[in-house]
Amino acid sequence: MQFKDIVGQQDVANRLTEIIDSGRVSHAQLLLGDTREGSLQMAFAYLQYLCCTDRRHYGPDAGLRADSCGQCPSCKKIASLQHPDLHVIFPNPPNGSTSVSAADYMKEFQDFVLERQALGTLDEFNLWLDRDVKTSIIRESDAATVVQSLGMKAYEGGWKMVVIWMPEKMNGAAANELLKTLEEPPAQSLILMVCENDERLLSTIRSRVQTVRLRSHPVSAAADEGMREQYGPLLVEWLRMLFKLKMKELSTQVDKLAGLGREQQKQLLNYALGVMHECFMATATGQGCVLGTGDAKFDAMFPAMITPNNIELIQGALDDAIFAIERNANGKIALMELSFRLSKALKKR
Ligand SMILES: [Zn+2]
Repeated sequence: MQFKDIVGQQDVANRLTEIIDSGRVSHAQLLLGDTREGSLQMAFAYLQYLCCTDRRHYGPDAGLRADSCGQCPSCKKIASLQHPDLHVIFPNPPNGSTSVSAADYMKEFQDFVLERQALGTLDEFNLWLDRDVKTSIIRESDAATVVQSLGMKAYEGGWKMVVIWMPEKMNGAAANELLKTLEEPPAQSLILMVCENDERLLSTIRSRVQTVRLRSHPVSAAADEGMREQYGPLLVEWLRMLFKLKMKELSTQVDKLAGLGREQQKQLLNYALGVMHECFMATATGQGCVLGTGDAKFDAMFPAMITPNNIELIQGALDDAIFAIERNANGKIALMELSFRLSKALKKR
């Protein structure tokens, strides 16, 4: 898995590659976000980058600052989940034996992850296994595997890595077994938890890991009632202005957007990403879409503006602006540049 294949999480990818490039990799990290939104994808892309022998760096203007090569032996081993120093732990159903662990379902898990490109949820995995869904947990035997594998010498002489998918499904015994390792991790070892709900994690675990939160998916943002109410009218007003592109009016509009806080600017742009995605899907599939921006005329007309000719330009422009705002760039300049790029892209339909 490469970062470039993950949708809508460029800023998170950039933060992660920066951490690795600066050599500040923490031994215990937690990626927080839905599996469907790419949290497990992010974990594998992260490890692939960590181990890649030919990392690619793009210019400061590129949206994605760096990525693994996808070609070196190490990349290939991680992409196929066959790297000898990578262990994956996940909730697994009982099979009547006390020593049952994730290792017993490894083949099925690998097939599932590869087939679903690491976007399949735990419920879907249980269906895939065709077992009783309610009893799937991470046990002491799984935690013991983590401790043991990190204690050994690395086969390839590099990082020893463990991914724990859905650590919120860990029982008390497993959590206790892990605590000491989280506190005093062996050299060059990394425990990467991929968690959907960190409120269900024991606080003793939570306090020992460095958390990186994934961006809530643009598609969920467009469907979110609160987001629609807050940003729908504002987005419509701005997009209408982009068609006219009268400098004075646009400048006033950008001033207004720049007056929002950074967090709100990011939310608005995230919401815009979701709306663009919905419109594109509607055009591509020939099915209607209900934008619900609060402006019926706009909702009826706008989706046809988003086509295969401009969707990538639009997404790229929005992603770059979000990236700039996160880096504390001047909001007004970032939004003005975004406005020009969007206006140009919209004309390319
Ligand atoms: Zn590589």
